[in-house]
Amino acid sequence: MATVDDTAVREREQARAEQPPAGGDIAVENPATGEVIAHVPDLGPEQVAELARAARAAQPAWEALGFEERGRYLLRMQKWITDHAERIISTIVSETGKTYEDAQLAEIMYGAAAFGFWAKEAPGFLADEHVKSANPLVKGKKLIVRYRPVGVVGVIGPWNFPLTNSFGDCIPALAAGNAVILKPSEVTPLTSLLMAEGLRACGLPEGIFQVATGDGTTGTALVDEVDFIMFTGSTKTGRKVMERAARTLTPVGLELGGKDPMIVLADADVERAANAAAYYSMNNGGQVCISIERVYVEEPLYDDFVARVTEKVRALRQGKPTGPGTVDVGAMIYPPQVDIVDAHVQDAVAKGARVLTGGKRADGPGTFYEPTVLVDVDHTMECMTEETFGPTLPIMKVADAEEAIRLANDSPYGLAASVWTRDAARGEDVARRVEAGAVCVNDAQINYVALELPMGGWKASGLGSRHGAGGIRKYCDQQAILITRFAPKKDLHMFPNSKLKSGLIGRTLRLLYGRGKRR
Ligand code: NDP
Repeated sequence: MATVDDTAVREREQARAEQPPAGGDIAVENPATGEVIAHVPDLGPEQVAELARAARAAQPAWEALGFEERGRYLLRMQKWITDHAERIISTIVSETGKTYEDAQLAEIMYGAAAFGFWAKEAPGFLADEHVKSANPLVKGKKLIVRYRPVGVVGVIGPWNFPLTNSFGDCIPALAAGNAVILKPSEVTPLTSLLMAEGLRACGLPEGIFQVATGDGTTGTALVDEVDFIMFTGSTKTGRKVMERAARTLTPVGLELGGKDPMIVLADADVERAANAAAYYSMNNGGQVCISIERVYVEEPLYDDFVARVTEKVRALRQGKPTGPGTVDVGAMIYPPQVDIVDAHVQDAVAKGARVLTGGKRADGPGTFYEPTVLVDVDHTMECMTEETFGPTLPIMKVADAEEAIRLANDSPYGLAASVWTRDAARGEDVARRVEAGAVCVNDAQINYVALELPMGGWKASGLGSRHGAGGIRKYCDQQAILITRFAPKKDLHMFPNSKLKSGLIGRTLRLLYGRGKRR
């Protein structure tokens, strides 16, 4: 008879056989110049399986090291990132075309902090939990919840933040005692390879962190091989990953798209709200999953807000970054994305929207879209309902907070949101009514760097979360342990059944649970 293990192996082999063989190389381009800057191998299913074998062989020793020893490697890597910050920034900028500052603040700062955070917090988050049960049948017994690393974790990442979003999810997986295989986007694989170099330089044992460069086929192969798959990317691909993982019953974490609303109430500090709207919609070229993608402004503040935002966005400098402070908005990292951005703007204009600044592709070489402000928009337009993932900001006038909340929730997505008001208590009330995994009051995006807070999407924006205790426990199997130390030869409920015992149990049941009132 086939065991569960046999079946899983057969399913994996069948899944592998259905895939095309390994391809050749992948050319990596600098999207700010259009130049090819490197080639990386396109790994096929057999090569991914080989990486998985190496990971499985290496993982037990890594797990056996314990938190303290593993933490030492993580802290060495924290220092390595800081020491090599300029080289890492230059690699990120060259494969994404983003600005120096977008690479420095949102990637290097995050990566360095994350190594310290997980090194420090992993032992606490994954410590055995001793629990007490109210059930009289287990009184006096020792009850433990224990977390054990799943084994081999696969991480599949997008192109918008090659360090933070792709590599970042590997850090807690490693801290928990897993071996990790990272499949970065084929568009931005160089940062992941550099992180692998850093970890090697920090003495990480062979096989514990490996990079599987390649395209979607490589990603599919990875899903087939691992014990947990952490995916960040579009909702469309996330569904495919989950379907694939269902074949082997592999658990998944999904961090998907968003359409984050900004709600500006009439009593907001309009200058702060306008600065934030310009920054959090245009930083990283708007290619941020928790970017402000649409704005609802209460009528009394609308004209002032729109005028200020437009002036600030019009003043942004865009182009090829050549060092710190040279530009404000960089390139579109994945050139085909520019077609989506332009389609959303054209759709809005065709339906009556006005472009106050920007509104078209910028001149090359390289792939750029002008920072764009749209008004007279509504929910018949794609720019208000579908993820644009580019440097655009549609702003809509609303009668009141109720209308803003209704429109904010009129979306299949629920990743993040923000509320702007001088009345913090009212802001919190509104925040609690918005359907999103994270809501900031008088801020946006910045919750992401509070690694203590969970970050995960509701609705079509994801499954599970990163950061906080849940961000590392997901990489572990939970084991319940019950230990009986002092006990009679036979418990009351053991065989044989008797009328006397059933009567006694019935009386106990009434005594324990039958004394409340029926309402
Ligand atoms: P994609 O979904 O296109 O790709 C994500 C990753 O999945 C890439 O590495 C891609 O490889 C890989 N992939 C593609 N097809 C498959 C497949 N069938 N099986 C397994 N893996 C596959 O996303 P993008 O890279 O275009 O990233 C942009 C999207 O990511 C946006 O929608 C954005 O909202 C979302 N995102 C979400 C975040 C969050 O935290 N919630 C954070 C950042 C981005 P390849 O690139 O080589 O094709």
